[in-house]
Amino acid sequence: MSTVLIFSNNPQSFTDAIGFLEVLKQKGLNVDKIIGVTSNNSANTEDIKKLGILELYLYDSKSTDDQIAKGLFQLVKKFSPNIILSSSSKTNNSILAYLSGLLSLPMLTEISDLLNATSDTLTLSRSVLAGRAYSIESVKLPAIITITPKKFTPSNLAATNDIKLDNLPLQDTTVKIVEVTPKKREGVKIEDAEIVVGVGRGFKSKEDLKLAFELASLLGGEVGCSRPIAADLRWLPEDRWIGISMKKIRPKLYIAIGISGAPQHMSAVDAKIIVAVNKDKNASIFSYSDYGIVADLYQFLPILINKLKKK
Ligand SMILES: Cc1cc2nc3c(=O)[nH]c(=O)nc-3n(C[C@H](O)[C@H](O)[C@H](O)COP(=O)(O)OP(=O)(O)OC[C@H]3O[C@@H](n4cnc5c(N)ncnc54)[C@H](O)[C@@H]3O)c2cc1C
Repeated sequence: MSTVLIFSNNPQSFTDAIGFLEVLKQKGLNVDKIIGVTSNNSANTEDIKKLGILELYLYDSKSTDDQIAKGLFQLVKKFSPNIILSSSSKTNNSILAYLSGLLSLPMLTEISDLLNATSDTLTLSRSVLAGRAYSIESVKLPAIITITPKKFTPSNLAATNDIKLDNLPLQDTTVKIVEVTPKKREGVKIEDAEIVVGVGRGFKSKEDLKLAFELASLLGGEVGCSRPIAADLRWLPEDRWIGISMKKIRPKLYIAIGISGAPQHMSAVDAKIIVAVNKDKNASIFSYSDYGIVADLYQFLPILINKLKKK
């Protein structure tokens, strides 16, 4: 092994790749040179120096995914890295998928463990089926690999004194950004809440969600929701959306109301106690819950809210 190219649109997640390289070294593989590529608007070269990156290529944050991928393509042709490594995120995966196509290289995403490494093959574990299973896969190098964030934390950083800075060679783009509209956000941090009241399609109208907000306020918690509530019905903003496609939560208590318990929702819920309220006794949410209440939410919630108010 000689050269590794580390890419991340957000340089803060370079540490995921550096942590992975540390494990790679423990398995006996050497890395002579690390080349970094990131967006210039958030890159702090002093912090990046601490990671042992020798050359850093920067690109304008307004560049399109295909421009960045084509720029990376030029670097890969120049340095022939054995591994192109990144932290798994929507943006990183999307750009590297372009690159994988341009180079005809294999790409493995959501890597959570390195099981074996030889000079030309890595055996890796990756999260599949919305986090419910791991798939053991081996890949011939060179390859593109993206790592589940925070799975590999570096402990020995080999800082460099000097870092060579350059611009990523950008090509013309075939994609034109016409307009960027920021998503509506309330700034709610359901991922930090100790109590989350989750609402799903069991609620018949946006107006009815006030029952859940009242319950959450009595308990000192936050309201989260399933995908249809945020994405399809747009009753709540996306920062309340729980699931593989949006936010993961780790509360002490999760109360799921009118939520069926789809794996794409439940794989993002790591709660100490789960309470489910659903009128269908066969709803799959009950297989995840510590306490299950088979009831119509419109009958159950007013009773619960009244009892809590009295307390
Ligand atoms: C690629 C992909 C990604 C996805 N990502 C996500 C994600 O990130 N997050 C997510 O949540 N989903 C996600 N989904 C969607 C997911 O598969 C489910 O469709 C969704 O979670 C269902 O939402 P729900 O439970 O609110 O609605 P439903 O499945 O319609 O369930 C509503 C539940 O309410 C109950 N109910 C109805 N009326 C009442 C009442 N009066 N009282 C009590 N209970 C009642 C019903 O019995 C039912 O169980 C994704 C799907 C795909 C394909």
